[in-house]
Amino acid sequence: MSLQFYNTLSRRLDEFQPLEEGHVRMYTCGPTVYNFAHIGNFRAYLFEDLLRRYLKFRGFQVTQVMNLTDVDDKTIRGANEKKVLLSEYTKTYVDAFFEDLKTLNVEPAEYYPAATDHIPDMIKLIHRLFEKGVAYQSDDGSIYFSIEKFKNYGRLARLDMSGLRAGARVAQDEYGKENLADFALWKAWDEKDGDIYWDSPWGRGRPGWHIECSAMSMRYLGESFDVHTGGVDNIFPHHEDEIAQSEAATGKPFAHTWLHCAHLIVDGKKMSKSLGNFHTLRDVLSRGYSGREIRYELMATHYRQALNFTFEALEAARSALSRLDEFSRRLQDVAKAGESETELPSWARSSSDKFTAALDDDLNISEALAALFDLVYAGNKALNDKMISVGEIWAVLALLDEWDKVLGFIRPPEETADPEALTLLELRQQARTSRNWTEADRLRDELAARGWIVQDTPQGPKLKRK
Ligand SMILES: [Zn+2]
Repeated sequence: MSLQFYNTLSRRLDEFQPLEEGHVRMYTCGPTVYNFAHIGNFRAYLFEDLLRRYLKFRGFQVTQVMNLTDVDDKTIRGANEKKVLLSEYTKTYVDAFFEDLKTLNVEPAEYYPAATDHIPDMIKLIHRLFEKGVAYQSDDGSIYFSIEKFKNYGRLARLDMSGLRAGARVAQDEYGKENLADFALWKAWDEKDGDIYWDSPWGRGRPGWHIECSAMSMRYLGESFDVHTGGVDNIFPHHEDEIAQSEAATGKPFAHTWLHCAHLIVDGKKMSKSLGNFHTLRDVLSRGYSGREIRYELMATHYRQALNFTFEALEAARSALSRLDEFSRRLQDVAKAGESETELPSWARSSSDKFTAALDDDLNISEALAALFDLVYAGNKALNDKMISVGEIWAVLALLDEWDKVLGFIRPPEETADPEALTLLELRQQARTSRNWTEADRLRDELAARGWIVQDTPQGPKLKRK
């Protein structure tokens, strides 16, 4: 079967083919850095991480851009309430965001452009929209996009355009379908913006949220690219407006495939501060759960289904992961260095086929996890019955490593050994190469005395905490 994704633009499963052979260019709407990100935000970032990792697993080179929205209604309000510079206010949350991504083992994107570093790109794009006759200045000096002048407006969100009132405008960055109207490309300075403004040919002001993503995606990925992702609540107005601005300026199709991740609910209810079920990642970590366990839970539901986050499910994630660890340990215990990897046993080969077929099918994670746990079950049975050779064990361990490149939770995070321990490990390796077993054993004992166990793996020896 070929790789296919559900494209919001076509509302069907489309076979996936990048514009440039072998290379996927992908844009991900990143965080608005006005607060610590919550688990609903991370659900979307983990879906995008799975997508990115799976594309690489399938042999594509991936260029991913994730923007940082560091100027919009919310960040300006936050900075002015705290009476600090915008950059100072957002830095706390930018730093926290990157720390959180690391905790969740999210693979870094190639680019993380910040909106405030790209204001000239946005001004240039607004210029182009003026030239095309779709932008205009209102009485207060702000610049708006005229949606009636863009004939495809409403295509992504399937909007009913008949209710459109000519000349109606909406100034907020976020608004609902009932406010369907011309939206702001550039907002003229107003008192509540304080010291936060940039100069432009239309006077002081700042960009609207939507133009930020159009300008930054085109800057790093070109005027047409492959994949654009976000949460379902980005479809309207954010993504609808991005398409309008970009396509009106270039006359070319903007992103070809749009993938949207469904909501996260908590204990069956909408997550909200008033219900007391609102959790940032940090809240969940403080209850004693690891990034790896949270990653597992947030990833284990198909991205187009609402995810019901519960602490019971986190317990289930913990026990699923300990089954995996137990299985890896058993394999490691039997495997010995020096024996070379052979073919996969047939039960592992069929799991391997199932895993790839599942993820090819619009990232069907439930089926992929079923393939993983089928492998654990069959592997444990083969170990019990002594029906697996050492070479096959190496092959199964290598398969788990391959899958871990996609899932990112199969192997526990590695602890980094101190430089001295790494030097001892290197010396031990040299002793083994020159067949000086006594010295190799002595070095192994010395590492053990320092609290490190040497594990020989297909990728060479590794250190693990005792
Ligand atoms: Zn965006």
